[in-house]
Amino acid sequence: MICKVRILKLILMGLLNGKKCLEYGCFKCCLETEMILSYSDIHRIIKLGYKLDEFAYFDGHYWRLRNNNRRCYFLSNDGRCRIYKHRPKGCMAYPVIIIESEKEIRCGVDDYCPFSNEINLKELRDGCKILIELFRELGEKIIVD
Ligand code: SF4
Ligand code: SF4
Repeated sequence: MICKVRILKLILMGLLNGKKCLEYGCFKCCLETEMILSYSDIHRIIKLGYKLDEFAYFDGHYWRLRNNNRRCYFLSNDGRCRIYKHRPKGCMAYPVIIIESEKEIRCGVDDYCPFSNEINLKELRDGCKILIELFRELGEKIIVD
């Protein structure tokens, strides 16, 4: 599949990274996750000692993170990611996501994240690059303007 991605020009301030999530005590995106996994994500996590069926399931098209009691398998009780340094590419990019509409497919910021308005243009671009790599691994080619 060839998708065309347009980088949105946003005038935003601030930085959003893992530190901000900790500072705000937020782990909203780790609840009821449907995060897609690439093969390198799966390989990296298995090398940590986890078993594939424990942390992921196949939906017929993609491997996705599994939830336990509506929380990501890797979310600890204190709201931290147990594999943060090795987390899936989609988690690294979040809240930058691929947005698909009838007209186009593009990178954008998910307003499900309560601090999505703190993403700046550089972070949007960096997140978009990670997502392009993720979809390339999945055999879905994305073109960026
Ligand atoms: S929803 Fe946003 S602020 Fe909350 S953990 Fe996810 S990326 Fe961080
Ligand atoms: S792998 Fe980590 S960052 Fe990704 S959804 Fe699970 S707990 Fe959150």
